[in-house]
Amino acid sequence: MDAPVPNRWVMEIAPYVPGRSTTDSGTKAVKLSSNENPFGTPEVARAAFAAAASQLERYPDASAAELREAIGAHYGLDPARIIYGTGSDEVLHLATGAYAGVGDEVIYVRYGFAVYDIAARRVGATPVVAPDTDYASDVDAILACVTARTKLIFIANPNNPTGTYTPRADIARLHAALPPHVLLVIDQAYTEYLDPEDDDGGLDLARNTKNVLVTRTFSKIFGLASERVGWGYGAPEMIDAMHRIRAPFNFSTAAQKAAVAALGDHAFVERSYRHNRAWRGWFADQIEAMGNKGLRAVPSKANFQLVLFEGEVTAEHAYKALMERGYIVRWLPGQGLPHGLRITIGTEDEIQGVAAAIREIMGA
Ligand SMILES: *Cc1c(COP(=O)(O)O)cnc(C)c1O
Repeated sequence: MDAPVPNRWVMEIAPYVPGRSTTDSGTKAVKLSSNENPFGTPEVARAAFAAAASQLERYPDASAAELREAIGAHYGLDPARIIYGTGSDEVLHLATGAYAGVGDEVIYVRYGFAVYDIAARRVGATPVVAPDTDYASDVDAILACVTARTKLIFIANPNNPTGTYTPRADIARLHAALPPHVLLVIDQAYTEYLDPEDDDGGLDLARNTKNVLVTRTFSKIFGLASERVGWGYGAPEMIDAMHRIRAPFNFSTAAQKAAVAALGDHAFVERSYRHNRAWRGWFADQIEAMGNKGLRAVPSKANFQLVLFEGEVTAEHAYKALMERGYIVRWLPGQGLPHGLRITIGTEDEIQGVAAAIREIMGA
């Protein structure tokens, strides 16, 4: 050995592929590939961010007290039981780092969020992939994967990249059937896009049991993806364990201030939710109308739509043809979806434009 050798399991990680912002030819385009908020960032958050520039020499508040208080007040949670991270991605890593290691198994669904695989492998744990049922998470399939080695289960609700939703009764059934030492992580990155009647009960489980962690993010409806603010809620013992491996100053003062401000802008969140619900429905109808060309819209409750290409025109062809027309969407061969495109619900102009481009490409 003439150089340091990385851990075997680290080299088995397939690097994360982020959504692109430029086309093949390098020109700027409409980016519908990362599920960002098409309305941008709340003005109040922008102002809070700018104000934080006056004290760049100071370390941020390592306890994120102001943010935890604000989240606690907003959602009716105990601030002491909130963990926070550089995006909820970090919270997912903290959970895996605290509870899983070499020889342990981590379960997630077949078309699950790409970070789960990285989080599991990063600590040397073995990823176990539960089959789906027509692209939706299947609670019974997940339970069938549980073994004596299972340490942690990731389930996103709604799920990314499928947009599918697992109802409250199924989440309850999943939790009830788990051995108490298995940590159930319910990733609610898109929860603000759900209709009010679609509460999956995750926060209640996190409040009342010892083995559920709910994660949330400011990257999606709150329009702060650049600032990397995520958080999680769980039992005090769980939060304590995660704090021990958290980097002490894991997000900036500006990020904390901006997140607190964004949380208070109800009008921005409400407008984003309504816009998304209306145009997601409209877009799904447009796709379904091309059913005779082999297109299918997987039922979505998030701020994106998974479109399946099951006819003559392939998803790869459509992906490239959309790029030529100035629309960047997400093609996901690396996640087992070479026949799918995930398309973020953009502004009215953007979503109408991308629908028109798809019609043209499909010859519909
Ligand atoms: C976008 C997303 C996240 C959030 O990531 P951040 O690190 O908070 O930006 C988490 N889980 C899922 C399923 C997502 O799609």
